[in-house]
Amino acid sequence: DQVMRISKPFKLASLEAKGAPSSFDIAGVDVGGSTFQAMAGPCSIESEDQTMRIAREVKKSGATFLRGGAFKPRSSPYSFQGLGEEGLKIMDQARKEFGLKLVSEAMDIQSLELMLKYDIDLIQIGARNIQNYSFLKELGKIDKPILLKRGFASTIDEWLMSAEYILNGGNDQVILCERGIRTFDSKYSRNTLDLNVVPILKSLTHLPIIIDPSHGTGYKHLVAPMALASMASGADGVIVEVHDRPEEALSDGPQALLPTDFETLMKQFRHLAPALERELCPQKDRQRAA
Ligand code: PEP
Ligand code: MN
Repeated sequence: DQVMRISKPFKLASLEAKGAPSSFDIAGVDVGGSTFQAMAGPCSIESEDQTMRIAREVKKSGATFLRGGAFKPRSSPYSFQGLGEEGLKIMDQARKEFGLKLVSEAMDIQSLELMLKYDIDLIQIGARNIQNYSFLKELGKIDKPILLKRGFASTIDEWLMSAEYILNGGNDQVILCERGIRTFDSKYSRNTLDLNVVPILKSLTHLPIIIDPSHGTGYKHLVAPMALASMASGADGVIVEVHDRPEEALSDGPQALLPTDFETLMKQFRHLAPALERELCPQKDRQRAA
């Protein structure tokens, strides 16, 4: 009963298709709309003790999601590859103990099945998998929100077309994540964090956008300034790496914030949020949280 002319190649992801920005209820936490969510935790789940220590700290500072990789896409096959299923069990324990929601990366069908088994609240698809179209089609068949990272060299249109694969499969819960792109200068930062994308995406798509200033910059001293700029740019939240012993971290130690740095960042967000009319980390089921 309705015919709509959508001139964009990304039909379902386009703002016209929906008419207004999307907001998703992820296990009692809204992502999108007027909210600004903070997702935080280690790059990799390394042990139960490490995860519980860091989860306690990020919860105390007000984060709503615990991040952590159980399946790690590493450039070297000799680097730590993640704890696998054991890592997801540990995350599940942290969720029960601290009332945090979970975000973790699925690298392939096998790890995706385990994400579903452990009911990971938000399934991250990494920068390296954004062009794995057969995998994106599988993500279209599941009923779980997806955090779709931008590839190192993805244009905005390519990124939105990857989101389109998931939406077209029937899964309408896609959140975009800018994590930095490769440019000509990588001397002072690991990547170039493209914050232009926030207002650009807001004009093109209804999908929420989360910023990852940790991979986007690669160095801890750059993370908080870019996280604050993310809120100012109109993003729907950040995903930040936090480690209490970064020198011992099995991956991405140099870009990890200490728990105290994260606490300071959350305080700064709290000051900034009212000026920008954003609600920092609201949670519907707060009473259930530890
Ligand atoms: C990560 O979040 O730890 C990660 C590997 O991210 P990306 O896919 O953006 O490199
Ligand atoms: Mn990392």
